Amino acid sequence: MNFDLTPDQAALRERARRFASEELAPVAEEYDQREEFPHEQFCRAAQLGFFGLSVPREYGGLGADTVSYALVIEELSRAMPAFGVPVSVHNSLVCYPIAKLGTPEQRQRYLPRLATGELLGGFSLTEPESGSDASAMQTLARKVDGGWIIDGHKTFVSMGATAGIFLVMAVTDPDAKRSRSISAFLIERGVPGFSSGQRVSKMGMRATDTTELLFREVYVPDANLLGNRGDGFKVALSSLDSGRIGIGAQALGIAQAALDTSAAYALSRKQFGEPIIKFQAVQFKLSDMATEIEAARLLLMEAAALKDAGQPMTTQAAMAKLMASQAAVRAADSAVQIHGGYGYLKGNTAERLYRDAKVTEIYEGTSEIQRIVIAESLIAEPATYPLPAFDVSAPVSG
Ligand SMILES: Cc1cc2nc3c(=O)[nH]c(=O)nc-3n(C[C@H](O)[C@H](O)[C@H](O)COP(=O)(O)OP(=O)(O)OC[C@H]3O[C@@H](n4cnc5c(N)ncnc54)[C@H](O)[C@@H]3O)c2cc1C
Repeated sequence: MNFDLTPDQAALRERARRFASEELAPVAEEYDQREEFPHEQFCRAAQLGFFGLSVPREYGGLGADTVSYALVIEELSRAMPAFGVPVSVHNSLVCYPIAKLGTPEQRQRYLPRLATGELLGGFSLTEPESGSDASAMQTLARKVDGGWIIDGHKTFVSMGATAGIFLVMAVTDPDAKRSRSISAFLIERGVPGFSSGQRVSKMGMRATDTTELLFREVYVPDANLLGNRGDGFKVALSSLDSGRIGIGAQALGIAQAALDTSAAYALSRKQFGEPIIKFQAVQFKLSDMATEIEAARLLLMEAAALKDAGQPMTTQAAMAKLMASQAAVRAADSAVQIHGGYGYLKGNTAERLYRDAKVTEIYEGTSEIQRIVIAESLIAEPATYPLPAFDVSAPVSG
């Protein structure tokens, strides 16, 4: 499906596809088993500009549109889902908000280094007691002369052991109304009082590290406040809209890989004297996978195109993430089933995809939270062509 890609979008997808198939796919299994991030491949991806997708050209980035960003994340994730995590978080949850909301000084200070990958960005919202409910956050930023003192404990930070700068949400105005109580801070690794905890061991996406972040009396100057005081929710929610397109693209890459590996295996594996792809039960699984992938891709492209057109896309981004992550989980499940007992073995791509797929239904808003976002839009905007509502007070006829 080409979705009328421009020559630039098609070229960038080709660049990502070639890098992913030649340099990521061959090492994906090895780094998953070693629970290690592939640093050499990181440097190559940085040379190819993938860490500067969301950075405007004037700061050394590619200045790519959202459609291109989604295409690149899908290609990288198709070969190695765990590689899609840092590229997505870095671009959509760090570079994009700095480019959009940063002061000229913040843009100049951070964007050139983020564009080259010299500085890797991480995003830190979640806390032990505050997951889906960001308003339960306890990390506190206290105003002092010229800056802020931050105290708190964050958890589940992707690339928390590796990233050099974090966009961190903290409560600045506990007595303000919920939407104005939080602010966003740019915090570089190495400032006194800041540390990252042990990496946690995960079911999937094992090549990326996930850690806690600890803040003990960390001084952050006023210059590192992103947006205005009290804008934290606005910063987080607008970044997460783009982030959800990234996670949707990651899920799509996983689903596509599950289909590719399943179709190839079904053609080569023989039982009862013929390739198992001859059996309708196997064909139907492949058909469902292909159909869900196509539907997810269209939703994703719609959300990305709306963002590029400057249109509201919160609902479409939520739908795209919901649909793509469901497609990924179902496709990976079918992939294991089509591989039979061999799908259950370590070293089989289907087994790794099965583990990697699940988290796409959890991070950057669980599927339940996406459904809440979608339902809110239905409540706010009833159908444009309303059918009469059923009148419960009318007498029921025969
Ligand atoms: C591998 C990994 C990487 C991550 N990376 C990052 C990162 O880089 N930065 C970051 O800030 N966070 C990150 N996260 C955290 C992630 O975003 C949260 O785990 C997620 O938002 C859910 O929060 P929770 O785990 O506390 O679950 P909870 O919020 O406790 O939810 C538990 C269950 O209750 C459901 N639930 C909660 N509220 C409602 C409701 N109102 N209605 C219906 N159901 C509800 C949820 O959908 C879920 O099924 C990461 C998580 C993982 C696993």
